[in-house]
Amino acid sequence: MTVSALTTPATVATTVPALAIRHLTVRYRQTEALSDVSVDIQAGEQIAIVGPNGAGKSTLLKAIAGLQPITSGEIRFFGAERAEPNTIAYVPQRLQVDWRFPVSVSDVVLMGRVGRIGLLRRPSHHDRLLVQRALERVGLAAFANRQIGHLSGGQQQRVFLARALAQEARLLLMDEPLVGLDIPSQDEIFRALAALRAEGVTILTALHDLQQAARYFDRVMLLNRRLIAYAPAREAFTAANLVATYGGHLHLLSSGDGLLTVADTCCNPTPDGTL
Ligand code: ADP
Ligand code: MG
Repeated sequence: MTVSALTTPATVATTVPALAIRHLTVRYRQTEALSDVSVDIQAGEQIAIVGPNGAGKSTLLKAIAGLQPITSGEIRFFGAERAEPNTIAYVPQRLQVDWRFPVSVSDVVLMGRVGRIGLLRRPSHHDRLLVQRALERVGLAAFANRQIGHLSGGQQQRVFLARALAQEARLLLMDEPLVGLDIPSQDEIFRALAALRAEGVTILTALHDLQQAARYFDRVMLLNRRLIAYAPAREAFTAANLVATYGGHLHLLSSGDGLLTVADTCCNPTPDGTL
């Protein structure tokens, strides 16, 4: 059997969602982080998960990745109870990664192949080719031999996207990949995400910026412990849904294309009522 590099994963019947989440509840000792969340995510879609701090975004991504035990409910992957090995790539928040670890960019991307080639086998020419092509896809071909600690924040995020590509993951989970990045670096990430779209990878990304969610993603998931909405941004971003998601920390503005813009920042009122 020949395996061509970085092709779309074997197609499944389009009616089988990449992820079917049913009545998902996740409780930490004191807190119910997710409450009765049910949603179907179709293969190949790119989904933005938005909601205020503490909404359960990270918990949802970890539960899908199998890193967080679920209290009740069910998550099915392409119709199966368990994800097939290596089909999920999870990119944690940047701060949770030790960037001083002395490895090169291509080593990190090659690690994405370990599950496929086995720990004890040496990487083949095919593996190295996949790594090289993945780096090209995310615009990092020139950085293959750089130490990861010497990259900018945006480049580091793209290394993880390349690793997901090299891994031939079908599902990519990213937790706030844009935090702390300047606008050009954010744009690079969106370009890399567009490259992953061509591979048919299903992508869930937690993020804060509602306009980016609307602009770059097929659907948005509005989350605040429970699922408020799951729809294309135009349908999801209604005043009622945004108030349900962000509560009082909200300023609504009508914008030219009919979308509502939101700031969920700051501002505890002072005792005399001024901000
Ligand atoms: P988000 O990513 O949307 O900010 P999280 O999933 O991190 O939300 O957290 C959801 C809720 O669960 C928060 O109230 C948070 O304090 C709580 N939480 C998250 N992780 C833990 C943990 N390991 N132990 C206890 N509580 C947690
Ligand atoms: Mg989080």
